[in-house]
Amino acid sequence: MKVIDLINNTNKTAFSYEILPPLKGTGIEKLYKTIDALQEFDPKYINITTHRSEYVYNDLGNGIFQRNRLRRRPGTVAVAAAIQNKYNITVVPHLLCSGFSEEETEYVLLDLQFLGITDLLVLRGDKAKHESAFTPEKDGHRNAIDLQKQINNFNNGIFVDGSEMQVTNTPFSYGVACYPEKHEESPNIDTDIHWLKQKIELGAEYAVTQLFYDNQKYFDFVNKARNAGITVPIIPGIKPFKRLSHLTMLPKTFKVDLPEELTREVMKCKTDEDCKQVGIEWCIQQCKDLMAHGVPSIHFYSISAVDSIKEVAKAIY
Ligand code: FAD
Repeated sequence: MKVIDLINNTNKTAFSYEILPPLKGTGIEKLYKTIDALQEFDPKYINITTHRSEYVYNDLGNGIFQRNRLRRRPGTVAVAAAIQNKYNITVVPHLLCSGFSEEETEYVLLDLQFLGITDLLVLRGDKAKHESAFTPEKDGHRNAIDLQKQINNFNNGIFVDGSEMQVTNTPFSYGVACYPEKHEESPNIDTDIHWLKQKIELGAEYAVTQLFYDNQKYFDFVNKARNAGITVPIIPGIKPFKRLSHLTMLPKTFKVDLPEELTREVMKCKTDEDCKQVGIEWCIQQCKDLMAHGVPSIHFYSISAVDSIKEVAKAIY
């Protein structure tokens, strides 16, 4: 079943989560353990992130650095297929502009089509670590919207070179990202909502938010989106606060504010274990409040947080 149907056809708040493909050179077993640990909460779908390649510089010891291209976490499509086969669950691989040409994307779409994986999350993707501003790949896309257009063409049987497919299969359906505290590059939240509306009008069936810790920011964002005529589900993305270092890492990485009350509680903690408990409690209250407001689904960011998510899910489902 498609994500949008899974969300619409459940009578309680749907549970879903995001995983990362294993680091290159490590196996998939650890990932299966994560999935096994969360199975009892009846996840409706699992997202699999995609990671672009990065440049790494090797010191050759003679004053010269060799630049190599490295993809630390390849394998999104294969991981999605493996999970779909093993757990018979809807999988949602992420498709990115960053790091991919249109042609490479087309091959990914063909692979997914052969595998019967037709749910996607369509994203621009992060900028490369060495970039100060996002630079599209040569023959790649600049914004999620442009990638959506390619997928829509593919759904209509048209390849990037304009040639036509002989056989078309189940069309891809997809969601997109949104940012209750605005995207870091957006001049203001209204401009961000303007582009979100364009993404919905082009065919996105739902939007998933960046993580946040202050529900009021989510509620205000949803209100603004509704006033702008966006009617699709806006799925809250949630990550339990886990470590003392998150006090600075989360705002820096995800451009989100941490509420004063949460910050005060975390600053009383002496260890990461204390901090984890504060994070679990905060997350339970956050989720209960979201559920009381009738959110269709809660999407958990699971990296380094599986134990905490388990505690939260036990308390709310
Ligand atoms: P876009 O929709 O392209 O928006 C980017 C910026 O451009 C925004 O400021 C927007 O307002 C503006 N904009 C949009 N369209 C236009 C236009 N046509 N013209 C001018 N401006 C425009 N990153 C990864 O690398 N891999 C992942 O797997 C991944 N998963 C994610 C999952 C979720 C749920 C979320 C919220 C984010 C994820 N990200 C991931 C991060 C995401 O790729 C970055 O936040 C990226 O900087 C923006 O992606 P986007 O799809 O929102 O971009």
